[in-house]
Amino acid sequence: MKILKIDHLGIAVKSIEDARKLYEEGLGLHFEGTETVAEQKVTTAFFPVGDSEVELLESTADNGPVAKFIERRGEGIHHIAFRVENIEEALKELKVQGVKLIDEKPRMGAGGAKIAFLHPKATFGVLIELCERD
Ligand code: ZN
Repeated sequence: MKILKIDHLGIAVKSIEDARKLYEEGLGLHFEGTETVAEQKVTTAFFPVGDSEVELLESTADNGPVAKFIERRGEGIHHIAFRVENIEEALKELKVQGVKLIDEKPRMGAGGAKIAFLHPKATFGVLIELCERD
């Protein structure tokens, strides 16, 4: 598998509108607008940072994965996303190596990316996302 770069850092927040002020006005990053991924019960907001991005995640439902994360661990870093050249190939390789996966097949994430999560039990406490996009 070929990892190209850190694509983005996912940060769980209770309110994108509240957090946006810090990233936009405080840190001077460009706010690219929000996108809701209904299937994951999450609204995302992307802020490009050099060759990577910060992704703010706000839950759209009390029982969504991001809401549950905040309940357990509070707001903060939720996942790290590596951009790969070929996500299907990467998942196949990890499976052969016996790495536990949440997604054995890629699904659609924000911005038209193909994404898949590794199981946190296999990643030493850091949720890892693989993503492939053009
Ligand atoms: Zn992400």
